[in-house]
Amino acid sequence: MLKSRISAARECLSRCGVEALVVTHLPLVRYLTGFTGSDGAVVISATGQWFLTDSRYTTQAAEEAAGFTQVEYRGKLEGITSLLRQLPAGRVGFEAEQVTVAFHRGLADALPAVELVPLGAELDGLRMVKDAAEIRLLERSAELASTALLGILDRIRPGVSERELALELEFAMKRAGAEEKSFDFIVASGERGALPHGRASAKEIRSGELVTIDFGSVCQGYHSDETVTVAVGQPDERQREVYRIVREAHDRAIDAVRPGVILKELDAVARDFITQEGYGAYFGHGLGHGVGLEVHEKPTVSFRGEEALVEGMVFTIEPGIYIPVWGGVRIEDTVVVTGDGCRLLTRVPKDLLVL
Ligand code: ZN
Ligand code: ZN
Repeated sequence: MLKSRISAARECLSRCGVEALVVTHLPLVRYLTGFTGSDGAVVISATGQWFLTDSRYTTQAAEEAAGFTQVEYRGKLEGITSLLRQLPAGRVGFEAEQVTVAFHRGLADALPAVELVPLGAELDGLRMVKDAAEIRLLERSAELASTALLGILDRIRPGVSERELALELEFAMKRAGAEEKSFDFIVASGERGALPHGRASAKEIRSGELVTIDFGSVCQGYHSDETVTVAVGQPDERQREVYRIVREAHDRAIDAVRPGVILKELDAVARDFITQEGYGAYFGHGLGHGVGLEVHEKPTVSFRGEEALVEGMVFTIEPGIYIPVWGGVRIEDTVVVTGDGCRLLTRVPKDLLVL
């Protein structure tokens, strides 16, 4: 499995006209090597592959990144540049969106004869289509998170603070076996629901409010991402109406997913419906994003997305309506593109739950 990932990286090298590639972004390091530690780098050339780390991780790296030539460094930049100096590599690719200005300057100063080539979309492409093993892990983390939420539904009631709820959910998730939460959960009740990224606060939930909960877990490095909006007490007419619109936008987008559809067309399916219902001004963000070793990764499902969907891509569908002072609704599921449509990885049913 890792072999095919390394060959894909090598194909990327030759497509981009570089003789070596330096990878320091940990999710891509993990993807290529299996290394789970928090510091390390990879260099790949047409004929060799090196894993570089410091003394804290050499034992772990020798086990996890076994197919790589191991290099121990004292300083990462030093380690990488002294290896590159030994290679016949005149053009070296680096991760344009990850490398800091300081690191780039360090590479350039130490390797004056080397042309440093920024690579962006070319590298994103490596992780965008998930293999069967990755999909199993994504499914597992989604299942853990969904089960945890369903297990604490009875705790969502008036008087409980958003923060307490977030804590209970995290606890339930970890007890079920999640290694980590995939991000700081969003619990946004009442008018705080108008904040698309309203982190759980000390605010107490009141009867008559909608509560948006955006949550996920991590399983062997793979994230899940799901959002429910529930009603505490009987929802009024407008709450039901806004929920109905977001739900239909979500359902229409999910129905439209299949290989070949352009990302921006998919975004438009949900956006046009919300606009047609009169709430277009209240849906400010893109429809979704890729999920994998990072909770936000490529592809970006937005009005700018020009790429076509491919079987095996995993991303979220998360339309929302956020009305200042009134509140908001978001509904989010994570899907995997199949041969003729998509399959949901997240599990919580999206009918309006009245608690
Ligand atoms: Zn989310
Ligand atoms: Zn999301």
